[in-house]
Amino acid sequence: MHNRFPAQERFAAGAQFIAGRLRQGTSGRTHAVVDPATGQEVFTYELAAPADVDAAVAAARAAFPAWSGATPAERSEALHRLAALLAERAEDFARAESLQCGKPLKLTREFDVPGTIDNTSFFAGAARHLQGQSAGEYSGDHTSYVRREPIGVVGSIAPWNYPLQMAAWKILPAIAAGNTIVLKPAELTPLTSLMFAQAATDAGLPDGVINVVTGTGKEAGEHLVGHPDVAMTSFTGSTAVGKRVAEIATATVKRLHLELGGKAPFVVFDDADLDAAAHGAVAGALINSGQDCTAATRAYVQRSRYDEFVERTAALMATVRVGDPFAAGTDLGPLISHVQRDRVAGFVDRARAYARVVTGGEAPRGTLKVGAYYLPTLIADAAQDSEIVQSEIFGPVLVVLPFDGDDEGIALANDTPYGLAASAWTRDVFRANRATREIQAGCVWVNDHIPIISEMPHGGYKQSGFGKDMSPYSFEEYTQIKHVMFDNTAVAEKDWHRTVFGDR
Ligand code: NAD
Repeated sequence: MHNRFPAQERFAAGAQFIAGRLRQGTSGRTHAVVDPATGQEVFTYELAAPADVDAAVAAARAAFPAWSGATPAERSEALHRLAALLAERAEDFARAESLQCGKPLKLTREFDVPGTIDNTSFFAGAARHLQGQSAGEYSGDHTSYVRREPIGVVGSIAPWNYPLQMAAWKILPAIAAGNTIVLKPAELTPLTSLMFAQAATDAGLPDGVINVVTGTGKEAGEHLVGHPDVAMTSFTGSTAVGKRVAEIATATVKRLHLELGGKAPFVVFDDADLDAAAHGAVAGALINSGQDCTAATRAYVQRSRYDEFVERTAALMATVRVGDPFAAGTDLGPLISHVQRDRVAGFVDRARAYARVVTGGEAPRGTLKVGAYYLPTLIADAAQDSEIVQSEIFGPVLVVLPFDGDDEGIALANDTPYGLAASAWTRDVFRANRATREIQAGCVWVNDHIPIISEMPHGGYKQSGFGKDMSPYSFEEYTQIKHVMFDNTAVAEKDWHRTVFGDR
């Protein structure tokens, strides 16, 4: 079981990456990273103190003039080298991510790591394609153009569910646009963010362009958000913490980008291919043990197909193999921690009073008992306003509810405070088109649920936040637009001066 990835040895120098090298935190307090599959501690490190955040911000600030002054081609070349190095180190990244998160190796090898490499390649190219309005004589007497400029030092905070991908989503558009960054990963999962920063340095990115501080949200996180030398906060995490982050960022008038929680609806109309919908629901609900902000969590099925959908989905769920993330043949690993597992179990246990647990609803027994495992769970017959339908559970739990007309299906899909992602299942192009138009979410899939691509934006509506990750749209977050205006007349007394000098 031990040495699935030699974390302690690899990060003996510490879990803070500041100005191009690893160092210890100075808070005097340690944190132990636990392998959720075994419950064993695999890496103990000293947490960042506010002084470590200050050092990281100072390093990012010092790196900003040269990095923002580099040509797009220079930044692009550095990112291309980084993408190549990540590809060389792919297996190492996959093992570290599987260890700290409990993700099956097939998921980290086929999704987290290739996705990150692809993102890096994408932003290597996109760095040379920052767009803007063209220069022109919009007033007859002036030439106007816009400069798209980086913002400065970006302070980013990331969650534990996809640590590597979230680090990449935060870092890449920021630095491709010429900013420098201080990233705070979740304290439970620092390994792959540190490896990413180290790989960037090894690929030749200048010291201080990417810094990683590993500390708690309350101490390191809040200090980073409130820091006067940080020009922008980009946060991915829960809506509750996002609200706190927004309050602190607002006090220093920072630009803010919030990627928050989700409770994605999965709407199955009566003409849908039910086999496809059942497969899509199980895969969409269980990926990453359901700890995915876009996971399918609420399936609304038109009443005539409801029983059949419940039956098929439950049967398919029972075929998913829960097991050790490093064992061949494992489909689903543990949750991130025992605390999270117990939180998920609490939601399900409370739901027994008002809904039907069709399958799952408990931790597996036997050898898996030591890990933070929870069986794939399907819940039927819950009321729309119940906790299990309204709250983000972040576990392998899917709730299924019936609906009658199309109006009702869409209304129910929109009836939570969240709006991150959704899917519609139908073979009718008009129904699909209506659903994509009327469902309030940052992404609506038709006849699929989960796929993402580097070229397309990811981000929320409603209380799922604002701003976009990935794609050229992310540059709207990480750049500011300056209007530059040149006088073309070369006369002292310009026509518009009449408003000040009177009629002469
Ligand atoms: P979380 O909100 O508890 O923590 C996220 C990060 O914020 C962590 O690094 C944490 O240390 C830090 N933090 C905590 N308190 C803080 C504070 N007071 N000030 C500053 N930082 C603080 O979320 P989590 O449990 O790590 O992750 C799960 C959540 O993330 C879910 O709600 C999920 O939907 C969301 N998420 C959203 C997206 C998206 O793209 N919208 C992507 C992934 C995860």
